[in-house]
Amino acid sequence: MNNQSADNLDVAIIGSGLGGLISACILSEYGYKVAVFEKNAQIGGTLQTFFFDGVKFDTGVHYIGGLDKGQPLYPYFKYLGLFDDIEYKKLDPDGYDHFSFEGDDQTYPHAQGYNNFVAKLGHFFPEEREGIKRYIQKVKDVCSAFSLYYLKSEPNINKELELLYESAKDVINSCVSNRKLRAILGANNLLYAGGKGNSPFYVHALVSNSYIESAYKVVGGGSQIARVLARKIKANGGIIYRANGIREFLIEGKTIKGIVTDKAEVVRAKNYISNIHPTTTLKMMDHSKLRKSYTNRLLNLSNTISAFVVYIVLKERTMKHRNQNRYHIAVEDVWDSEPKNMQDWGKSFAVYFTESKKHKGYCRALALITYMKWEDVDRWDQTENHTLKPDERDESYQKFKEKRAETLIENASNILPELNDSIESYTTSTPLTLRDYIGGPEGSLYGVDRSFKSPMKSHVNSRTKFKNLFFVGQNTTMHGVLGVTIGAVNTCSHLIGRKELVDRIRVASE
Ligand SMILES: Cc1cc2nc3c(=O)[nH]c(=O)nc-3n(C[C@H](O)[C@H](O)[C@H](O)COP(=O)(O)OP(=O)(O)OC[C@H]3O[C@@H](n4cnc5c(N)ncnc54)[C@H](O)[C@@H]3O)c2cc1C
Repeated sequence: MNNQSADNLDVAIIGSGLGGLISACILSEYGYKVAVFEKNAQIGGTLQTFFFDGVKFDTGVHYIGGLDKGQPLYPYFKYLGLFDDIEYKKLDPDGYDHFSFEGDDQTYPHAQGYNNFVAKLGHFFPEEREGIKRYIQKVKDVCSAFSLYYLKSEPNINKELELLYESAKDVINSCVSNRKLRAILGANNLLYAGGKGNSPFYVHALVSNSYIESAYKVVGGGSQIARVLARKIKANGGIIYRANGIREFLIEGKTIKGIVTDKAEVVRAKNYISNIHPTTTLKMMDHSKLRKSYTNRLLNLSNTISAFVVYIVLKERTMKHRNQNRYHIAVEDVWDSEPKNMQDWGKSFAVYFTESKKHKGYCRALALITYMKWEDVDRWDQTENHTLKPDERDESYQKFKEKRAETLIENASNILPELNDSIESYTTSTPLTLRDYIGGPEGSLYGVDRSFKSPMKSHVNSRTKFKNLFFVGQNTTMHGVLGVTIGAVNTCSHLIGRKELVDRIRVASE
Protein backbone atom coordinates (compact mmCIF):
# COMPACT_ATOMS: atom_id res chain seq x y z
CA MET A 1 0.00 0.00 0.00
CA ASN A 2 1.18 3.52 -0.73
CA ASN A 3 0.88 5.06 2.75
CA GLN A 4 1.06 8.57 1.36
CA SER A 5 -2.19 8.18 -0.53
CA ALA A 6 -4.09 6.58 2.34
CA ASP A 7 -3.36 9.58 4.61
CA ASN A 8 -6.09 11.98 5.70
CA LEU A 9 -8.91 9.74 4.63
CA ASP A 10 -12.43 10.95 5.21
CA VAL A 11 -13.84 7.45 4.88
CA ALA A 12 -12.18 4.03 4.91
CA ILE A 13 -14.42 1.34 3.44
CA ILE A 14 -13.78 -2.25 4.39
CA GLY A 15 -14.84 -4.67 1.64
CA SER A 16 -15.51 -4.02 -2.03
CA GLY A 17 -18.87 -5.79 -2.35
CA LEU A 18 -21.60 -3.89 -4.14
CA GLY A 19 -22.45 -1.93 -0.99
CA GLY A 20 -18.83 -0.89 -0.39
CA LEU A 21 -18.29 0.15 -4.00
CA ILE A 22 -21.51 2.16 -4.24
CA SER A 23 -20.72 3.92 -0.96
CA ALA A 24 -17.23 4.77 -2.23
CA CYS A 25 -18.70 6.01 -5.49
CA ILE A 26 -21.29 8.27 -3.86
CA LEU A 27 -19.00 9.66 -1.17
CA SER A 28 -16.10 10.33 -3.56
CA GLU A 29 -18.52 12.11 -5.88
CA TYR A 30 -19.38 14.37 -2.93
CA GLY A 31 -15.70 15.17 -2.48
CA TYR A 32 -14.91 12.83 0.42
CA LYS A 33 -11.46 11.27 0.27
CA VAL A 34 -12.20 7.55 0.31
CA ALA A 35 -10.23 4.30 0.17
CA VAL A 36 -11.65 0.80 -0.21
CA PHE A 37 -9.79 -2.16 1.31
CA GLU A 38 -10.55 -5.52 -0.30
CA LYS A 39 -9.09 -8.82 0.89
CA ASN A 40 -9.48 -10.53 -2.49
CA ALA A 41 -7.56 -10.00 -5.71
CA GLN A 42 -10.85 -9.33 -7.49
CA ILE A 43 -13.25 -6.65 -6.29
CA GLY A 44 -17.04 -6.99 -6.19
CA GLY A 45 -17.79 -9.68 -3.56
CA THR A 46 -20.66 -11.71 -5.03
CA LEU A 47 -20.39 -9.66 -8.24
CA GLN A 48 -17.20 -11.58 -8.97
CA THR A 49 -16.93 -13.67 -12.13
CA PHE A 50 -14.42 -16.36 -13.04
CA PHE A 51 -13.29 -18.20 -16.16
CA PHE A 52 -13.49 -21.97 -16.41
CA ASP A 53 -12.46 -23.71 -19.63
CA GLY A 54 -12.63 -20.37 -21.43
CA VAL A 55 -16.19 -19.59 -20.33
CA LYS A 56 -17.09 -16.77 -17.95
CA PHE A 57 -19.32 -17.60 -14.97
CA ASP A 58 -21.10 -15.42 -12.44
CA THR A 59 -20.54 -16.43 -8.83
CA GLY A 60 -23.61 -14.54 -7.55
CA VAL A 61 -25.91 -12.12 -9.38
CA HIS A 62 -27.57 -13.99 -12.25
CA TYR A 63 -30.29 -11.47 -12.93
CA ILE A 64 -31.44 -8.11 -11.70
CA GLY A 65 -34.86 -6.50 -11.64
CA GLY A 66 -36.61 -3.16 -11.89
CA LEU A 67 -34.19 -1.62 -14.37
CA ASP A 68 -36.55 0.13 -16.78
CA LYS A 69 -37.38 3.84 -16.49
CA GLY A 70 -39.88 4.47 -13.68
CA GLN A 71 -38.83 1.27 -11.89
CA PRO A 72 -36.96 0.98 -8.58
CA LEU A 73 -33.38 0.33 -9.73
CA TYR A 74 -33.44 2.77 -12.66
CA PRO A 75 -32.71 6.10 -10.85
CA TYR A 76 -29.93 4.55 -8.77
CA PHE A 77 -28.19 2.91 -11.74
CA LYS A 78 -28.63 6.05 -13.85
CA TYR A 79 -27.07 8.21 -11.12
CA LEU A 80 -24.22 5.72 -10.63
CA GLY A 81 -23.46 5.62 -14.37
CA LEU A 82 -24.31 1.92 -14.55
CA PHE A 83 -26.06 2.23 -17.90
CA ASP A 84 -22.84 3.51 -19.51
CA ASP A 85 -20.68 0.82 -20.95
CA ILE A 86 -22.74 -2.12 -19.61
CA GLU A 87 -25.11 -4.16 -21.70
CA TYR A 88 -28.25 -5.63 -20.12
CA LYS A 89 -30.33 -8.30 -21.78
CA LYS A 90 -34.02 -8.59 -20.98
CA LEU A 91 -35.17 -12.08 -20.02
CA ASP A 92 -38.28 -13.54 -21.65
CA PRO A 93 -41.15 -11.09 -20.89
CA ASP A 94 -43.63 -13.98 -20.81
CA GLY A 95 -41.63 -15.99 -18.30
CA TYR A 96 -38.32 -14.77 -16.90
CA ASP A 97 -38.63 -17.57 -14.31
CA HIS A 98 -40.21 -20.94 -15.02
CA PHE A 99 -41.21 -23.30 -12.20
CA SER A 100 -41.60 -27.04 -12.42
CA PHE A 101 -42.68 -29.47 -9.74
CA GLU A 102 -41.81 -33.12 -9.23
CA GLY A 103 -44.54 -35.31 -10.71
CA ASP A 104 -46.07 -32.51 -12.82
CA ASP A 105 -44.98 -32.12 -16.47
CA GLN A 106 -46.23 -28.56 -16.72
CA THR A 107 -43.97 -25.54 -16.17
CA TYR A 108 -45.47 -22.32 -14.83
CA PRO A 109 -44.15 -18.85 -15.61
CA HIS A 110 -43.59 -15.66 -13.66
CA ALA A 111 -44.05 -13.07 -16.40
CA GLN A 112 -42.85 -9.46 -16.60
CA GLY A 113 -45.44 -6.68 -16.22
CA TYR A 114 -48.20 -6.79 -13.62
CA ASN A 115 -51.01 -7.50 -16.09
CA ASN A 116 -48.92 -10.02 -17.97
CA PHE A 117 -48.07 -11.77 -14.68
CA VAL A 118 -51.78 -12.11 -13.88
CA ALA A 119 -52.66 -13.18 -17.43
CA LYS A 120 -49.95 -15.82 -17.74
CA LEU A 121 -50.71 -17.48 -14.40
CA GLY A 122 -54.44 -16.86 -14.83
CA HIS A 123 -54.26 -19.02 -17.93
CA PHE A 124 -53.55 -22.03 -15.69
CA PHE A 125 -55.80 -20.94 -12.83
CA PRO A 126 -58.71 -18.98 -14.38
CA GLU A 127 -60.79 -19.26 -11.22
CA GLU A 128 -57.99 -17.58 -9.26
CA ARG A 129 -57.53 -14.47 -11.44
CA GLU A 130 -58.91 -12.15 -8.76
CA GLY A 131 -56.68 -13.79 -6.17
CA ILE A 132 -53.57 -13.28 -8.33
CA LYS A 133 -54.60 -9.63 -8.73
CA ARG A 134 -54.93 -9.35 -4.94
CA TYR A 135 -51.43 -10.80 -4.60
CA ILE A 136 -50.01 -8.28 -7.10
CA GLN A 137 -51.76 -5.40 -5.34
CA LYS A 138 -50.35 -6.53 -1.98
CA VAL A 139 -46.85 -6.76 -3.48
CA LYS A 140 -47.20 -3.23 -4.90
CA ASP A 141 -48.56 -1.79 -1.64
CA VAL A 142 -45.73 -3.26 0.41
CA CYS A 143 -43.05 -2.01 -1.98
CA SER A 144 -44.54 1.51 -2.00
CA ALA A 145 -44.40 1.57 1.80
CA PHE A 146 -40.57 1.35 1.76
CA SER A 147 -39.59 4.91 1.01
CA LEU A 148 -36.27 4.43 -0.80
CA TYR A 149 -37.70 1.67 -3.01
CA TYR A 150 -39.30 4.37 -5.14
CA LEU A 151 -36.86 7.08 -4.06
CA LYS A 152 -38.90 9.03 -1.53
CA SER A 153 -36.88 11.08 0.93
CA GLU A 154 -39.27 10.79 3.89
CA PRO A 155 -39.49 7.32 5.44
CA ASN A 156 -42.78 6.10 6.92
CA ILE A 157 -41.17 4.29 9.83
CA ASN A 158 -44.40 3.07 11.44
CA LYS A 159 -45.68 1.49 8.24
CA GLU A 160 -42.28 -0.10 7.53
CA LEU A 161 -42.16 -1.54 11.05
CA GLU A 162 -45.65 -2.99 10.79
CA LEU A 163 -44.74 -4.88 7.61
CA LEU A 164 -41.80 -6.67 9.20
CA TYR A 165 -44.22 -8.96 11.06
CA GLU A 166 -46.14 -10.37 8.08
CA SER A 167 -45.27 -13.89 6.94
CA ALA A 168 -44.70 -14.50 3.21
CA LYS A 169 -46.46 -17.84 3.37
CA ASP A 170 -49.51 -16.45 5.20
CA VAL A 171 -49.95 -13.46 2.91
CA ILE A 172 -49.68 -15.57 -0.25
CA ASN A 173 -52.10 -18.12 1.18
CA SER A 174 -54.54 -15.34 2.04
CA CYS A 175 -54.56 -14.13 -1.58
CA VAL A 176 -55.14 -17.43 -3.41
CA SER A 177 -56.50 -20.79 -2.34
CA ASN A 178 -55.28 -23.26 -4.97
CA ARG A 179 -52.44 -25.30 -3.47
CA LYS A 180 -50.37 -25.42 -6.66
CA LEU A 181 -50.78 -21.71 -7.27
CA ARG A 182 -49.72 -20.94 -3.70
CA ALA A 183 -46.60 -23.02 -4.33
CA ILE A 184 -45.90 -21.26 -7.64
CA LEU A 185 -46.11 -17.82 -6.03
CA GLY A 186 -43.71 -18.84 -3.26
CA ALA A 187 -41.44 -21.02 -5.37
CA ASN A 188 -38.88 -18.31 -6.08
CA ASN A 189 -37.90 -18.31 -2.42
CA LEU A 190 -34.39 -19.57 -3.19
CA LEU A 191 -33.87 -15.91 -4.13
CA TYR A 192 -34.08 -15.02 -0.46
CA ALA A 193 -33.37 -18.41 1.13
CA GLY A 194 -36.96 -18.75 2.26
CA GLY A 195 -36.84 -22.53 2.57
CA LYS A 196 -37.20 -22.43 6.36
CA GLY A 197 -40.60 -20.80 6.23
CA ASN A 198 -39.74 -17.79 8.38
CA SER A 199 -39.46 -15.18 5.61
CA PRO A 200 -41.39 -11.97 5.99
CA PHE A 201 -43.68 -11.01 3.12
CA TYR A 202 -41.84 -7.72 2.58
CA VAL A 203 -38.67 -9.63 1.63
CA HIS A 204 -40.65 -11.72 -0.85
CA ALA A 205 -42.38 -8.61 -2.21
CA LEU A 206 -39.29 -6.41 -2.62
CA VAL A 207 -37.43 -9.18 -4.49
CA SER A 208 -40.34 -10.51 -6.58
CA ASN A 209 -41.71 -7.10 -7.50
CA SER A 210 -38.46 -5.90 -9.02
CA TYR A 211 -38.39 -8.87 -11.42
CA ILE A 212 -42.10 -8.64 -12.21
CA GLU A 213 -41.45 -5.02 -13.22
CA SER A 214 -38.55 -6.12 -15.48
CA ALA A 215 -35.86 -8.80 -15.36
CA TYR A 216 -32.43 -8.50 -16.96
CA LYS A 217 -29.15 -10.36 -17.21
CA VAL A 218 -25.91 -8.39 -17.13
CA VAL A 219 -24.15 -9.30 -20.38
CA GLY A 220 -20.57 -10.18 -19.51
CA GLY A 221 -21.49 -10.90 -15.88
CA GLY A 222 -22.03 -8.98 -12.66
CA SER A 223 -18.35 -8.00 -12.52
CA GLN A 224 -19.19 -5.36 -15.17
CA ILE A 225 -21.00 -3.44 -12.43
CA ALA A 226 -17.94 -3.58 -10.15
CA ARG A 227 -15.68 -2.50 -13.03
CA VAL A 228 -17.73 0.62 -13.85
CA LEU A 229 -18.08 1.60 -10.18
CA ALA A 230 -14.32 1.19 -9.63
CA ARG A 231 -13.58 3.41 -12.61
CA LYS A 232 -15.87 6.11 -11.21
CA ILE A 233 -14.33 5.87 -7.74
CA LYS A 234 -10.85 6.32 -9.18
CA ALA A 235 -11.98 9.20 -11.43
CA ASN A 236 -13.31 10.91 -8.28
CA GLY A 237 -9.91 10.54 -6.56
CA GLY A 238 -10.80 7.45 -4.51
CA ILE A 239 -8.42 4.55 -3.99
CA ILE A 240 -9.10 0.81 -4.12
CA TYR A 241 -6.64 -1.57 -2.49
CA ARG A 242 -7.01 -5.16 -3.62
CA ALA A 243 -5.50 -8.16 -1.88
CA ASN A 244 -5.19 -6.10 1.29
CA GLY A 245 -7.97 -6.87 3.73
CA ILE A 246 -8.54 -5.50 7.20
CA ARG A 247 -7.87 -7.68 10.21
CA GLU A 248 -8.46 -5.33 13.14
CA PHE A 249 -10.34 -2.20 14.17
CA LEU A 250 -8.55 0.03 16.72
CA ILE A 251 -10.91 1.44 19.31
CA GLU A 252 -10.78 4.29 21.80
CA GLY A 253 -13.95 4.46 23.88
CA LYS A 254 -16.78 4.59 21.38
CA THR A 255 -14.69 5.83 18.49
CA ILE A 256 -12.83 3.91 15.81
CA LYS A 257 -9.28 5.23 15.75
CA GLY A 258 -7.89 3.14 12.93
CA ILE A 259 -7.85 -0.13 11.05
CA VAL A 260 -5.02 -2.60 10.61
CA THR A 261 -4.51 -4.15 7.19
CA ASP A 262 -3.42 -7.72 6.44
CA LYS A 263 -0.02 -6.21 5.68
CA ALA A 264 0.07 -4.80 9.24
CA GLU A 265 -0.27 -1.17 8.15
CA VAL A 266 -2.39 1.12 10.33
CA VAL A 267 -4.82 3.30 8.39
CA ARG A 268 -6.66 6.20 9.99
CA ALA A 269 -9.81 7.89 8.72
CA LYS A 270 -12.50 10.16 10.07
CA ASN A 271 -15.21 7.60 9.32
CA TYR A 272 -15.35 3.88 8.57
CA ILE A 273 -17.89 1.86 6.62
CA SER A 274 -17.87 -1.90 7.06
CA ASN A 275 -19.15 -3.91 4.10
CA ILE A 276 -18.38 -7.14 5.92
CA HIS A 277 -20.69 -9.16 8.10
CA PRO A 278 -21.57 -7.38 11.41
CA THR A 279 -20.60 -10.43 13.49
CA THR A 280 -17.20 -10.60 11.76
CA THR A 281 -16.76 -6.84 12.11
CA LEU A 282 -17.42 -7.01 15.84
CA LYS A 283 -15.03 -9.93 16.31
CA MET A 284 -12.27 -7.76 14.83
CA MET A 285 -12.37 -5.23 17.67
CA ASP A 286 -12.41 -4.79 21.41
CA HIS A 287 -16.14 -4.19 21.92
CA SER A 288 -16.08 -4.36 25.71
CA LYS A 289 -17.16 -0.71 26.05
CA LEU A 290 -20.40 -1.37 24.22
CA ARG A 291 -23.62 -2.56 25.85
CA LYS A 292 -23.80 -6.35 26.08
CA SER A 293 -27.37 -6.43 24.74
CA TYR A 294 -26.11 -4.83 21.53
CA THR A 295 -22.96 -6.89 21.07
CA ASN A 296 -24.65 -10.18 21.99
CA ARG A 297 -27.33 -9.58 19.40
CA LEU A 298 -24.79 -8.85 16.65
CA LEU A 299 -22.54 -11.72 17.69
CA ASN A 300 -25.45 -14.17 17.59
CA LEU A 301 -27.16 -13.17 14.36
CA SER A 302 -28.63 -16.10 12.54
CA ASN A 303 -27.66 -16.41 8.86
CA THR A 304 -29.24 -17.79 5.71
CA ILE A 305 -28.27 -21.27 4.55
CA SER A 306 -25.43 -21.74 2.01
CA ALA A 307 -25.39 -23.35 -1.44
CA PHE A 308 -23.66 -25.85 -3.66
CA VAL A 309 -23.17 -24.81 -7.29
CA VAL A 310 -22.18 -26.80 -10.39
CA TYR A 311 -20.85 -24.56 -13.18
CA ILE A 312 -21.17 -26.48 -16.45
CA VAL A 313 -19.53 -25.74 -19.79
CA LEU A 314 -21.67 -27.24 -22.56
CA LYS A 315 -20.48 -28.47 -25.92
CA GLU A 316 -21.30 -25.93 -28.59
CA ARG A 317 -24.65 -26.32 -30.34
CA THR A 318 -25.92 -29.19 -28.19
CA MET A 319 -28.50 -27.45 -26.03
CA LYS A 320 -30.98 -24.76 -27.09
CA HIS A 321 -30.62 -21.57 -25.06
CA ARG A 322 -33.47 -20.57 -22.76
CA ASN A 323 -33.78 -16.82 -22.16
CA GLN A 324 -35.19 -17.55 -18.71
CA ASN A 325 -34.31 -19.17 -15.41
CA ARG A 326 -35.68 -22.47 -14.24
CA TYR A 327 -36.60 -23.49 -10.70
CA HIS A 328 -37.43 -27.11 -10.00
CA ILE A 329 -39.23 -27.95 -6.77
CA ALA A 330 -39.34 -31.46 -5.35
CA VAL A 331 -40.84 -30.81 -1.93
CA GLU A 332 -44.46 -30.85 -0.80
CA ASP A 333 -44.15 -27.47 0.88
CA VAL A 334 -42.04 -24.74 -0.78
CA TRP A 335 -41.67 -23.14 2.66
CA ASP A 336 -39.95 -26.25 3.99
CA SER A 337 -37.36 -26.86 1.30
CA GLU A 338 -34.04 -26.90 3.14
CA PRO A 339 -32.64 -30.44 2.74
CA LYS A 340 -32.91 -32.57 5.86
CA ASN A 341 -30.88 -35.54 4.74
CA MET A 342 -28.90 -36.86 1.79
CA GLN A 343 -32.03 -38.55 0.36
CA ASP A 344 -33.72 -35.26 -0.40
CA TRP A 345 -30.56 -33.28 -1.03
CA GLY A 346 -30.24 -31.65 -4.48
CA LYS A 347 -33.76 -32.51 -5.63
CA SER A 348 -34.91 -28.88 -5.70
CA PHE A 349 -32.60 -26.53 -7.58
CA ALA A 350 -32.29 -23.51 -9.85
CA VAL A 351 -30.80 -23.44 -13.36
CA TYR A 352 -29.30 -20.29 -14.87
CA PHE A 353 -28.49 -20.42 -18.60
CA THR A 354 -25.80 -18.49 -20.52
CA GLU A 355 -26.07 -18.10 -24.29
CA SER A 356 -23.17 -19.02 -26.57
CA LYS A 357 -21.40 -15.99 -28.03
CA LYS A 358 -20.54 -17.89 -31.19
CA HIS A 359 -23.79 -19.72 -31.81
CA LYS A 360 -26.79 -17.56 -30.98
CA GLY A 361 -29.80 -19.53 -29.86
CA TYR A 362 -27.62 -22.16 -28.19
CA CYS A 363 -26.64 -22.41 -24.57
CA ARG A 364 -22.90 -22.40 -23.77
CA ALA A 365 -23.00 -22.70 -20.02
CA LEU A 366 -25.28 -23.20 -17.10
CA ALA A 367 -25.16 -23.02 -13.34
CA LEU A 368 -27.08 -25.45 -11.13
CA ILE A 369 -27.67 -24.16 -7.61
CA THR A 370 -29.10 -25.97 -4.63
CA TYR A 371 -29.06 -25.42 -0.88
CA MET A 372 -26.22 -26.91 1.12
CA LYS A 373 -25.79 -26.80 4.88
CA TRP A 374 -22.53 -25.77 6.49
CA GLU A 375 -22.50 -29.05 8.43
CA ASP A 376 -21.98 -30.90 5.14
CA VAL A 377 -18.51 -29.32 4.78
CA ASP A 378 -17.50 -28.29 8.28
CA ARG A 379 -15.00 -31.14 8.57
CA TRP A 380 -12.78 -29.06 6.20
CA ASP A 381 -13.41 -25.73 7.92
CA GLN A 382 -9.77 -25.34 8.98
CA THR A 383 -8.67 -25.22 5.34
CA GLU A 384 -8.64 -22.14 3.14
CA ASN A 385 -8.73 -22.01 -0.62
CA HIS A 386 -8.91 -18.96 -2.88
CA THR A 387 -6.79 -17.32 -5.56
CA LEU A 388 -4.48 -15.64 -3.04
CA LYS A 389 -4.11 -18.75 -0.95
CA PRO A 390 -4.49 -21.83 -3.08
CA ASP A 391 -4.36 -24.61 -0.58
CA GLU A 392 -5.20 -28.00 -1.99
CA ARG A 393 -8.00 -29.47 0.07
CA ASP A 394 -7.58 -33.19 0.50
CA GLU A 395 -8.79 -35.97 -1.73
CA SER A 396 -11.86 -36.58 0.44
CA TYR A 397 -13.12 -33.05 -0.31
CA GLN A 398 -12.67 -33.56 -4.06
CA LYS A 399 -14.58 -36.84 -3.81
CA PHE A 400 -17.33 -35.20 -1.78
CA LYS A 401 -17.75 -32.47 -4.41
CA GLU A 402 -17.70 -34.99 -7.24
CA LYS A 403 -20.42 -37.11 -5.67
CA ARG A 404 -22.65 -34.11 -4.99
CA ALA A 405 -22.10 -32.77 -8.52
CA GLU A 406 -23.09 -36.13 -10.01
CA THR A 407 -26.27 -36.21 -7.91
CA LEU A 408 -27.26 -32.69 -8.89
CA ILE A 409 -26.50 -33.23 -12.60
CA GLU A 410 -28.53 -36.43 -12.58
CA ASN A 411 -31.49 -34.64 -11.00
CA ALA A 412 -31.20 -31.75 -13.47
CA SER A 413 -31.08 -34.22 -16.38
CA ASN A 414 -34.58 -35.34 -15.48
CA ILE A 415 -35.90 -31.91 -16.47
CA LEU A 416 -33.26 -31.13 -19.12
CA PRO A 417 -32.94 -34.46 -20.95
CA GLU A 418 -30.27 -33.16 -23.35
CA LEU A 419 -27.99 -32.15 -20.47
CA ASN A 420 -26.05 -35.38 -19.96
CA ASP A 421 -24.80 -35.56 -23.54
CA SER A 422 -24.06 -31.85 -23.71
CA ILE A 423 -21.57 -31.51 -20.85
CA GLU A 424 -18.03 -30.60 -21.88
CA SER A 425 -16.67 -30.00 -18.38
CA TYR A 426 -17.70 -28.62 -15.02
CA THR A 427 -16.47 -27.25 -11.74
CA THR A 428 -18.19 -26.74 -8.40
CA SER A 429 -18.40 -24.45 -5.39
CA THR A 430 -19.45 -25.25 -1.83
CA PRO A 431 -20.23 -23.25 1.31
CA LEU A 432 -16.46 -23.21 1.93
CA THR A 433 -15.94 -21.41 -1.37
CA LEU A 434 -18.50 -18.77 -0.46
CA ARG A 435 -16.91 -18.34 2.95
CA ASP A 436 -13.39 -18.03 1.54
CA TYR A 437 -14.29 -15.60 -1.24
CA ILE A 438 -16.86 -13.46 0.55
CA GLY A 439 -16.07 -13.88 4.22
CA GLY A 440 -19.65 -14.44 5.41
CA PRO A 441 -20.08 -16.82 8.36
CA GLU A 442 -20.53 -20.43 7.24
CA GLY A 443 -20.75 -19.42 3.58
CA SER A 444 -24.19 -17.93 4.09
CA LEU A 445 -25.91 -17.12 0.77
CA TYR A 446 -27.47 -13.78 1.62
CA GLY A 447 -26.12 -12.99 5.08
CA VAL A 448 -28.45 -12.27 8.00
CA ASP A 449 -31.63 -14.35 8.01
CA ARG A 450 -34.69 -12.15 8.36
CA SER A 451 -37.62 -13.67 10.20
CA PHE A 452 -41.15 -12.34 10.57
CA LYS A 453 -41.25 -14.07 13.96
CA SER A 454 -38.68 -11.81 15.59
CA PRO A 455 -37.68 -9.12 13.08
CA MET A 456 -35.86 -6.99 15.63
CA LYS A 457 -33.47 -9.84 16.44
CA SER A 458 -32.20 -9.82 12.86
CA HIS A 459 -32.32 -6.06 12.40
CA VAL A 460 -28.90 -4.52 11.76
CA ASN A 461 -28.94 -0.74 11.77
CA SER A 462 -26.50 0.91 9.38
CA ARG A 463 -25.56 3.25 12.25
CA THR A 464 -23.55 1.48 14.92
CA LYS A 465 -22.83 2.28 18.57
CA PHE A 466 -19.54 3.77 17.37
CA LYS A 467 -20.18 7.30 16.18
CA ASN A 468 -17.84 6.98 13.20
CA LEU A 469 -18.58 3.39 12.07
CA PHE A 470 -21.41 2.44 9.71
CA PHE A 471 -22.53 -0.82 8.13
CA VAL A 472 -23.39 -1.31 4.48
CA GLY A 473 -24.29 -4.32 2.36
CA GLN A 474 -26.70 -7.22 2.40
CA ASN A 475 -26.66 -7.66 6.17
CA THR A 476 -28.16 -4.24 6.84
CA THR A 477 -31.26 -3.36 4.82
CA MET A 478 -31.70 -6.18 2.27
CA HIS A 479 -29.67 -8.51 0.09
CA GLY A 480 -29.62 -8.52 -3.72
CA VAL A 481 -28.48 -5.88 -6.15
CA LEU A 482 -31.52 -3.70 -5.56
CA GLY A 483 -31.56 -4.15 -1.78
CA VAL A 484 -27.85 -3.47 -1.38
CA THR A 485 -27.97 -0.43 -3.70
CA ILE A 486 -30.79 1.12 -1.69
CA GLY A 487 -28.99 0.22 1.53
CA ALA A 488 -25.81 1.96 0.37
CA VAL A 489 -27.76 5.15 -0.32
CA ASN A 490 -29.23 4.87 3.17
CA THR A 491 -25.77 4.42 4.72
CA CYS A 492 -24.25 7.34 2.79
CA SER A 493 -27.17 9.55 3.76
CA HIS A 494 -25.90 9.46 7.38
CA LEU A 495 -22.91 11.49 6.17
CA ILE A 496 -24.46 13.48 3.32
CA GLY A 497 -28.06 13.97 4.43
CA ARG A 498 -30.94 11.96 3.06
CA LYS A 499 -32.85 14.73 1.29
CA GLU A 500 -29.72 16.09 -0.35
CA LEU A 501 -28.70 12.67 -1.67
CA VAL A 502 -32.18 11.60 -2.77
CA ASP A 503 -32.65 14.92 -4.60
CA ARG A 504 -29.33 14.52 -6.37
CA ILE A 505 -30.18 10.99 -7.49
CA ARG A 506 -33.58 12.14 -8.67
CA VAL A 507 -32.16 15.03 -10.70
CA ALA A 508 -29.43 12.86 -12.22
CA SER A 509 -31.95 10.27 -13.30
CA GLU A 510 -34.47 12.61 -14.93
C1 LIG B 1 -24.98 -17.67 -5.26
C2 LIG B 1 -25.59 -16.30 -5.17
C3 LIG B 1 -26.48 -15.91 -6.16
C4 LIG B 1 -27.04 -14.63 -6.11
N1 LIG B 1 -27.86 -14.24 -7.13
C5 LIG B 1 -28.36 -12.99 -7.14
C6 LIG B 1 -29.12 -12.52 -8.24
O1 LIG B 1 -29.35 -13.24 -9.23
N2 LIG B 1 -29.59 -11.24 -8.20
C7 LIG B 1 -29.35 -10.40 -7.15
O2 LIG B 1 -29.80 -9.24 -7.16
N3 LIG B 1 -28.61 -10.82 -6.09
C8 LIG B 1 -28.11 -12.08 -6.08
N4 LIG B 1 -27.34 -12.50 -5.01
C9 LIG B 1 -27.17 -11.60 -3.85
C10 LIG B 1 -26.23 -10.45 -4.11
O3 LIG B 1 -25.16 -10.89 -4.92
C11 LIG B 1 -25.66 -9.92 -2.79
O4 LIG B 1 -26.72 -9.67 -1.90
C12 LIG B 1 -24.86 -8.64 -2.92
O5 LIG B 1 -24.03 -8.62 -4.04
C13 LIG B 1 -24.03 -8.48 -1.64
O6 LIG B 1 -23.33 -7.27 -1.64
P1 LIG B 1 -22.57 -6.77 -0.34
O7 LIG B 1 -22.35 -5.30 -0.50
O8 LIG B 1 -23.27 -7.20 0.88
O9 LIG B 1 -21.11 -7.42 -0.42
P2 LIG B 1 -20.57 -8.90 -0.52
O10 LIG B 1 -20.85 -9.43 -1.88
O11 LIG B 1 -21.00 -9.69 0.65
O12 LIG B 1 -19.01 -8.63 -0.44
C14 LIG B 1 -18.31 -8.36 0.74
C15 LIG B 1 -16.88 -8.04 0.37
O13 LIG B 1 -16.12 -7.82 1.56
C16 LIG B 1 -14.86 -8.45 1.40
N5 LIG B 1 -14.27 -8.73 2.71
C17 LIG B 1 -14.67 -9.67 3.61
N6 LIG B 1 -13.87 -9.62 4.71
C18 LIG B 1 -12.96 -8.64 4.48
C19 LIG B 1 -11.89 -8.09 5.24
N7 LIG B 1 -11.58 -8.56 6.46
N8 LIG B 1 -11.17 -7.07 4.71
C20 LIG B 1 -11.48 -6.58 3.48
N9 LIG B 1 -12.48 -7.06 2.71
C21 LIG B 1 -13.21 -8.07 3.22
C22 LIG B 1 -15.17 -9.70 0.62
O14 LIG B 1 -14.03 -10.25 0.03
C23 LIG B 1 -16.18 -9.16 -0.39
O15 LIG B 1 -15.54 -8.63 -1.53
C24 LIG B 1 -26.73 -13.75 -5.05
C25 LIG B 1 -25.83 -14.16 -4.06
C26 LIG B 1 -25.26 -15.41 -4.12
C27 LIG B 1 -24.28 -15.80 -3.06
